[in-house]
Amino acid sequence: MSNTCAYSVVIPVFNEESCVEIVLKDILQSIEPLGKDYEIICVDDCSTDSSWEIISSFSQKHPQIKGIRFSRNFGHQLAVHAGIKQSTGKYVAVLDADGQDPPEILPDMFKKCENGYDVVYAIRTQRKEAYLKKAAYKLLYIIYKKIVPFYVPVDSGDFAVFTQKIAKFIGSLDEKKPFIRGLRNYYGGKQIGYEYERKKRISGKTKYSLFKLILLALNGATTFSKIPLRLISIFGITISLASFLSGLYLLLRKLTVGIDLLGWTSTTILIIFFGGLNMLVLGIIGEYIGDIFDETKNRPPYLIDQHVGY
Ligand code: UDP
Ligand code: MG
Repeated sequence: MSNTCAYSVVIPVFNEESCVEIVLKDILQSIEPLGKDYEIICVDDCSTDSSWEIISSFSQKHPQIKGIRFSRNFGHQLAVHAGIKQSTGKYVAVLDADGQDPPEILPDMFKKCENGYDVVYAIRTQRKEAYLKKAAYKLLYIIYKKIVPFYVPVDSGDFAVFTQKIAKFIGSLDEKKPFIRGLRNYYGGKQIGYEYERKKRISGKTKYSLFKLILLALNGATTFSKIPLRLISIFGITISLASFLSGLYLLLRKLTVGIDLLGWTSTTILIIFFGGLNMLVLGIIGEYIGDIFDETKNRPPYLIDQHVGY
């Protein structure tokens, strides 16, 4: 791991037996003509299919291909983190194992980095995904952009090329729930987008359900921003003020004209509304407490069980 090279390509892999071979071949085809030394780091997130066997056999044929296998499934973001941490390339690329991120554009992206950019992030011009998922992504980016205190490019995912400086920064963190694209933006530096058309995955199904996607976005928000907590305070102040004023009004009414017994519906709606609001507020605070819990236990964020090609 002490040997350095020009380019590293990091690929998180989870049950991609029908894609990973094609993707590896495509990467080799794109990167070989550059004529520089490189490494491809496949991080197998404990696949239950034959992905690891495919990676291992590729690694035997191509010494540039290295494989790391987690002891269990730790999730996409940690797989990317592990790959970045192991990378030795002057420039580091991250792309998925399902063919959605086209390796053909890697040489151009590496070139932009060589010309002085710290980060070249890929921007999806078109998404060939379900309508609901596309709408969810859009909404999440809009919210995310509003609440984090640094610049966030819309429609860019983890697919990017960056310098070893940034790889070192990300690799030096021991966060239990890293949000890679956020950390990349957090660094700042000289960043530029590179537009591409996001393809359909070669085969198989997405590992991100809508629910998992929402959890990822929630983590992205809570890990970089205290605004959700501040919103709770603002909410609390507004509701306290409103209830004080309505209380005053009811008191005055009772003292002057007396109180009629109408109002069952409005009382019930108010109870349900504030019950729900309490749960929401507790949930948001709970997210932050959960993160503190995860961080303070100080367990390793992931465990590597096997290596090939090292
Ligand atoms: N992945 C992973 N661990 C997981 C889930 C996914 O390493 O627990 C990998 C997966 O093999 C793929 C990448 O992360 O290379 C992105 O996953 P996917 O394509 O399912 O997400 P989508 O592109 O649909 O958002
Ligand atoms: Mg995908």
